[in-house]
Amino acid sequence: MRIAEISTFPVRYREPNDNNSQRHLVFCRATADDGTVGWGEAITQFPEPTKAAAVLIDGLAGRLIGRDPMENVDIWRDLRRTTWWYGYRGGITAFAIAAIDVALWDLKGHLLGEPLVKMLGGGTRQQLPVIASTHAFNASLQEEAERHGRYVQDLGYRGVKIGMGKAGDTHLGYEIERDTTFVRLLRDAVGPGAMIMMDRAQTLPWTVSDAIRRAQAFDEYALTWIEEPLEPDEISGFLRLKQQVRCLVAGGEREWTWEGFKAFIETGAVDVVGCDVGRAEGITGVLKVMELVDANHLWFNSHAWSSAVNTAASLALSAVSNRCLVQELKPDRNPMQHELVDRPFEPHDGLIDVPTRPGLGVDVNEEVLQRYAF
Ligand SMILES: [Mg+2]
Repeated sequence: MRIAEISTFPVRYREPNDNNSQRHLVFCRATADDGTVGWGEAITQFPEPTKAAAVLIDGLAGRLIGRDPMENVDIWRDLRRTTWWYGYRGGITAFAIAAIDVALWDLKGHLLGEPLVKMLGGGTRQQLPVIASTHAFNASLQEEAERHGRYVQDLGYRGVKIGMGKAGDTHLGYEIERDTTFVRLLRDAVGPGAMIMMDRAQTLPWTVSDAIRRAQAFDEYALTWIEEPLEPDEISGFLRLKQQVRCLVAGGEREWTWEGFKAFIETGAVDVVGCDVGRAEGITGVLKVMELVDANHLWFNSHAWSSAVNTAASLALSAVSNRCLVQELKPDRNPMQHELVDRPFEPHDGLIDVPTRPGLGVDVNEEVLQRYAF
């Protein structure tokens, strides 16, 4: 069996979970010479890296055509060697490698008739606890707290993770008192047992003291973790923060390669390592990061805020990790989850099922990719 074709599908869509902001992704389809296909995706988010990643994938395709898809890990190593000049330590090349790598794992799974989780050696869990990962955008804190409460009370999510400094009128992340009021209202709305995570947008210029004061105030309402509270290079700030708060400290999602994660993890900056399969060089790359998380006795969090292709790969990775607390899912109906695949991921009883069909376990509707083509 040989790889016969590599195709790219850049898309643009409005994300209801992000105040209908425009977001971009690039999909990669790998086709074997018997017509079997595999799908991958990179969470490029912005227009320029989406186009650039598509150009890179199309260019790298020449190295893939004619190769055996069963040798996907060797192909991953070859892609890294090939991109030594422009992909060293990550960047847009890591997006391209991610999309290709996920597509090849999916293709391999279809050819073998095995689900990804089994190809990775098998997971101990068929389901994972799931939280609603979203943003607040209405001006009324009470309304936003109640809206998020319904994800837990009505839809059964185990908790909520909310971005601060995001689009819309909620204006979180700017005034500590307002942020604290919101977390207090949120705790009332979700109830005592639910998890609450608060996530700082990189656009919020917090000092170390700002981060510590917020985390301490949020701790009064049993915060599970504070995410990306500081810029990734503020290591001494992370260490100060960790000593002064009860909640876990999460970070890492802006790293690209396992070498970058290794350096970051070894500083001791975080308890929870965020890592996106559509960014950190795909399934093969994330598996290496998971080994580091395991060796350092930290928690692995699959940053999965993209398409159902990304969610499917993330679920398999989370399932084979014994250091994963929860899986995140965008709670509101959105095109790249609910239109893209035949059976969208949905929570039930606070859990989300790990796919059991071959490969990633999702069937991508190419008409949807044409509808949102960018
Ligand atoms: Mg985050």
